[in-house]
Amino acid sequence: MEALGVERIEAVADRGYFKIEDIEACEAAGVTPYVPKPVRGPAVREGFFPKEAFRFDPAPATFTCPGGQTLRPCRRGRSRDNVKIDYSNRQACMACSLRSRCTKTYRHVSRLENEAVLDRMAARLAARPEVLDQRSTSVEHPFGTIKQWMHQGAFLMRRLECVRGEFSRTALVYNMRRAISLVDVPGLIAAAKG
Ligand code: SF4
Repeated sequence: MEALGVERIEAVADRGYFKIEDIEACEAAGVTPYVPKPVRGPAVREGFFPKEAFRFDPAPATFTCPGGQTLRPCRRGRSRDNVKIDYSNRQACMACSLRSRCTKTYRHVSRLENEAVLDRMAARLAARPEVLDQRSTSVEHPFGTIKQWMHQGAFLMRRLECVRGEFSRTALVYNMRRAISLVDVPGLIAAAKG
């Protein structure tokens, strides 16, 4: 933001960066984050309905499950520094024809108290799914080239200042090679002069 002289910026990252604290920090700093949610968790591992199959209603804070039943808050706990609330409807599960696709006993769905920040990001991603492809084509190319073709898998230097110097040279060489691929040497020289 400082380099571009702007007060708002968008940040697109891969699933490895999906962490609610960081997403919140981005919003607070004027950064609009786009990070896809990893599909994981015990229910997914067991082949049960994923959490996305459950619709959250903020007022009065309930989930509607794939069977159309209402899951209500049943337990309050913590996940790192976040308040986590579990929702369930044991009676409905016991009588449910979808139970074998949903749970072994009765289903709990968890939601963090501050999870609305993730809902907002999911809505942004649904509206602009192409940003993820833009990220991978623009960001993965340098990583792949630097690591595989330039054999820069690990830094040779130690200490931040030295590593910065090493990476600056790597980036300079990458940029020159990339420019030569795109506009050839005469084009690069002409651009440098211009
Ligand atoms: S098992 Fe429970 S949570 Fe799952 S679909 Fe049936 S009623 Fe809903």
